[in-house]
Amino acid sequence: MAEVPYFIDHEAAQRIAAASPILLATEQVELDAAHGRVLSHDLASKVDDPPFDNSAMDGFAFIHNDSLEPPATLTIIQTIQAGDANPAQNLSSGQATRIMTGAPMPLGATSILPIERCEVNDDGTEVTLLEQGRPHFIRKRGENLRQGETNLTQGTTLTPAKVGLCATMGWPTVPVYKKARVAIISTGDELKFPGEPLEAHQIYESNSFGLASLVQWMGHEAVRYQAVADSMDSLRQALNTATEECDLVLTSGGVSMGDWDYVRKIMEEEGDVHYWRVKIRPGSPPLFGLWNGTPLFGLPGNPASSHVVFRVLVAPYLRACTAGGGPKEHRLRVQLADRLKGDDTCLSLRRIRIDTTGDHPVAYSTGPQGSGNLNSVAQADGLTLLSPGQASNKGDWCDAILL
Ligand code: AMP
Ligand code: MG
Repeated sequence: MAEVPYFIDHEAAQRIAAASPILLATEQVELDAAHGRVLSHDLASKVDDPPFDNSAMDGFAFIHNDSLEPPATLTIIQTIQAGDANPAQNLSSGQATRIMTGAPMPLGATSILPIERCEVNDDGTEVTLLEQGRPHFIRKRGENLRQGETNLTQGTTLTPAKVGLCATMGWPTVPVYKKARVAIISTGDELKFPGEPLEAHQIYESNSFGLASLVQWMGHEAVRYQAVADSMDSLRQALNTATEECDLVLTSGGVSMGDWDYVRKIMEEEGDVHYWRVKIRPGSPPLFGLWNGTPLFGLPGNPASSHVVFRVLVAPYLRACTAGGGPKEHRLRVQLADRLKGDDTCLSLRRIRIDTTGDHPVAYSTGPQGSGNLNSVAQADGLTLLSPGQASNKGDWCDAILL
């Protein structure tokens, strides 16, 4: 495997993996099921919104010039409610229309005064405007959306407001990428299902649960397989099944240099490795390649590492497969309140808790940062992006990814 890129930086690793994307089909989903999905096509509005000039307030509509010298008394000629089907009468000078929020403006009216700035006489025939009108309380046709204009582009993740906007644009269903089916296979003779009795040499298997949650957080479907023992045969069988059933495979464990690191071995001997080892800490062992033509990330077994590698390598890959969709990577510049360990060769992704209550964000270590300590991730709301050689003493500043 001499020609396989080895111990590369994470940007190079991202590029290599992105060259073997999952090609996701698309489907139409109803708006009720659209939250969190990623648009597979641009979406243009079918209508102007608002479709007609209307009032932003409950109050009175009139000709603005009639209100220049308040108090001004006008004759009430009609009442219009939102949804009234009958066209309103045109309005002339000296006249006012009682109007409700969302009701179409009568022709000729150029201003609104909210009800609380008006006085109506006892028999409801006249209104006295106590102040000048407010032309800006007219919501103009098309001020929110223009018909035919693309308002949501391919790759947009549908947040609650964006789902609402699809409805405003007139779309009852929307085109989205199908969710990727992502296989998750933990490997290791020492792994036991959580809750089973542990013998002295065993630990609870946690990576598949954490990784499945990360896959779901990205908006895809996790297919968690039973943990596999450290043997070429059981691994081969598991990889064959997973690649038949899924679009992408994530394995955990068995990619380092040890004699029992069978994921690396089987990928070298029978698969197709595109890179191995990445300059990040924790998490330098990962590999990426193809098994039976299906993309596969071999993630490290250490639980903190597998999480970090997912965030740095798998999440960007999945985003690239959906034109940038899925939760975004948000960054923040933080000042370190604790000394953190950097590295001369690797990008250091230390787990931090970020306090944003002061005048700038301050980052604390979440505790023992060994790659086996999942608690350091569980308590974290950020990962440092300490470049090789970057100072990381108390008081130094660095970029961080928000978790
Ligand atoms: P490996 O990458 O297989 O050498 O594993 C590195 C470390 O991570 C070892 O201490 C393993 O016991 C531990 N480990 C591997 N897989 C898992 C898993 N699925 N859940 C929890 N710990 C694991
Ligand atoms: Mg192992």
